[in-house]
Amino acid sequence: MHEFNSEVESLAQEILAYSLKRLKDNPPLDGPQTPEELFAKVGNTITVDGLGGHEALKVFTDTLALACISTDHPRYLSFIPSAPSEHSNLFDLVVGSSALYGGSWLEGAGAVFAENQALRWISDLAGLPQSAGGVFVQGGTIGNLSALVAARVYAREKYPEVARWVVACSSEAHSSIKSAADIMDVLLLIIPATADGVMTGENFAATVDVYLSENPTHRIFAVVATAGTTNLGIIDDLNEVGQEAIKRNIWFHVDGAYGLAALCAPTVRPLFNGIERADSLIVDPHKWLFAPFDACALIYRDPTVAKRAHTQHASYLETLEDPNEWNPSDYAVHLTRRARGLPFWFSLAANGTREYSEAMQQTLDVAQHAAQLVRDHPNLELIHDPLLSIVAFKRIGWNTADYERWSDKLLADQIGFVVPSAHKGEPMLRFAIVNPWTTEKDIAEILATL
Ligand SMILES: *Cc1c(COP(=O)(O)O)cnc(C)c1O
Repeated sequence: MHEFNSEVESLAQEILAYSLKRLKDNPPLDGPQTPEELFAKVGNTITVDGLGGHEALKVFTDTLALACISTDHPRYLSFIPSAPSEHSNLFDLVVGSSALYGGSWLEGAGAVFAENQALRWISDLAGLPQSAGGVFVQGGTIGNLSALVAARVYAREKYPEVARWVVACSSEAHSSIKSAADIMDVLLLIIPATADGVMTGENFAATVDVYLSENPTHRIFAVVATAGTTNLGIIDDLNEVGQEAIKRNIWFHVDGAYGLAALCAPTVRPLFNGIERADSLIVDPHKWLFAPFDACALIYRDPTVAKRAHTQHASYLETLEDPNEWNPSDYAVHLTRRARGLPFWFSLAANGTREYSEAMQQTLDVAQHAAQLVRDHPNLELIHDPLLSIVAFKRIGWNTADYERWSDKLLADQIGFVVPSAHKGEPMLRFAIVNPWTTEKDIAEILATL
């Protein structure tokens, strides 16, 4: 099998050359094509004899790659873009060629050690105790689900006689919370947000207390606060909600998939006060911490609860059950895992945390400039002063179809990727700025088309 012949050798050179070019040059934006268009170009790529590495690579580089939008393009501002650093991207090549197993200490001690140091950095920024710990999972969706499963195990141990389990979250919470509630077959109690989109401690406490007086056999096992909503970047009142949750013995989970990255930016750090009360939190390094897909940091205040909730027991796994060893598999809904936190760790280790704070501040500054450009634009109306790095605005006089047409043309012209979103039932546009390569000039170029 390990036959590194001259053909593989030359393929290796080609792959490295392609990867380096991709990293060095400004990436093209590109865009989707239909299955028919792609089939017309490449046909059936799975054949009995195989295409050979050179040909298969050509199929990818000359056709398939061009049908994938570069999520790290400086004018990709939709959803939440990605902006992996050169270091994290390069190290992903090492992870890919090292056959690391990231599920157990026995197999991946060195990798797990490094991942845990990267988790510790986040945990310390949040002000969690030294006993806190967790694991990198695939994304915020799995992170939120895993935290909520642990929260319910904790509540079940304390309150065995409960008719119905309930998780509370704000009306502005991410769709993955509803999805987790459905998977877990628990009820979702929606806490009304203020006009500004914030869940306050007062609203949370009042809604919960009314609900429980009307449903005395139910129990609220967790509340999810959002630290940076995906649409507008709004942060719930973590301090108050955390306090009210602790008073009621309700697990306090903070979904910071996008926003908690900004814990490392001193200018906005106070917005997250109260995060130190969290029983669990998530943040996606693949969103705003300059790491490639797919990596979500999931951290528990007391990881022993998560371990009781998530450890899989099987005869073939017993050999891994050493209480003194940290097995990442035991802390989420998964077993086999790649050491997906390593590209993030490498970038953090190589660049240092100061560089991270500076890159973060740069994106925050560009967001503030972008907001000013929107305020100054005759056709635009800013929806919300950006707290973090999401700038949401309306084009005066446009309906949904106008927004769609503009967005399609912006991509077709290869200027940028900005899809319409909605706020309070009205269509709008938003820039999510997480890429230090995105400059004021990029923003101005897009705004000039509005
Ligand atoms: C993106 C996001 C999620 C989901 O994360 P994935 O990594 O896409 O699964 C959850 N919550 C918030 C607030 C997010 O922004």
